[in-house]
Amino acid sequence: MTQRYTVELRRLERDSHDNCSLCGRPFKPAEAAHSGYAADGRPLYVGSCCEANIAETAARYHWEPRAYEVPPPSALLWRYMDFAKFVSLLRDGALFFSRADLLGDRYEGAKGLLANKSKWDQYYLKWFREALRNPPPGADFGLSPEELEKRAQKFIVDLEALGKDGLRTTFVSCWHESEGESEALWRLYCPPSSAGVAIRTTFTALNLSLGDDPDTKIGRVRYIDFRKSFAGPNDAIFRKRQSLSHEREARAVIHRIEARDEPGIRVPADLKQLMQALVISPFAPVWFQDVLNETMSRFNVVAPTMTSDLTSEPFY
Ligand SMILES: [Zn+2]
Repeated sequence: MTQRYTVELRRLERDSHDNCSLCGRPFKPAEAAHSGYAADGRPLYVGSCCEANIAETAARYHWEPRAYEVPPPSALLWRYMDFAKFVSLLRDGALFFSRADLLGDRYEGAKGLLANKSKWDQYYLKWFREALRNPPPGADFGLSPEELEKRAQKFIVDLEALGKDGLRTTFVSCWHESEGESEALWRLYCPPSSAGVAIRTTFTALNLSLGDDPDTKIGRVRYIDFRKSFAGPNDAIFRKRQSLSHEREARAVIHRIEARDEPGIRVPADLKQLMQALVISPFAPVWFQDVLNETMSRFNVVAPTMTSDLTSEPFY
């Protein structure tokens, strides 16, 4: 295994995560997935079904389902913000990703309820033992039963230490997935008599505006009942309590070890691509549209602006 990774190979792993990239066969839990290159250099991410096509193996994995659900390419994503945040976005040409432990939800990154922790530990202990006993081909650790048990126990201890600390190196940009506007979110982010906007984009436009970077994970948050279930080590950042399900959040997640002491990171974004539309808050004063247009032209940013659907007149 060469561990040689090109951006193309990492994009292929991301896009074809659940299926063999050659024959399309869905992977089964714990089967071996092979990443590498064909003889002509083409990246491949395949199951044992098509392993013979790999001339250079970069890595092998125990396949696991993706930690998050990917929205459809045209899914509409919204980001509501006050005018100050919007100006900062224009000035920086970058999206602000908040450090995960500063997002304001103390369950952020939680794997479950403390009262149920021993069940979680038992489940993953069993999982680690199995994984160590059945390593992928070519990666046999040759462990004695005692060593194997020691390693499995250490995994659990390491995971706990990593769980909380990992939030400091995880950065998140939160979006609301919906076909239309949300009055509740307007009131939350741009309350009456203040001025603000909502960026409307799509899953594809958000991904491309951030450079189609395979290290940026964009997916839906799944809302779970922590009394009955757990989050896994890799998916906890995409799990929240059911009581927040109205948020309908899709989030972009980046890991940056070197930024652990920063409150957030600014990730360069192609704003023209990102801002498929800019909707003006229904509560903004009438003069705000001129200010908005002038500000955008000052920063050389072009985006179609529109008034909020909430300002339409009813009849009775
Ligand atoms: Zn195949």
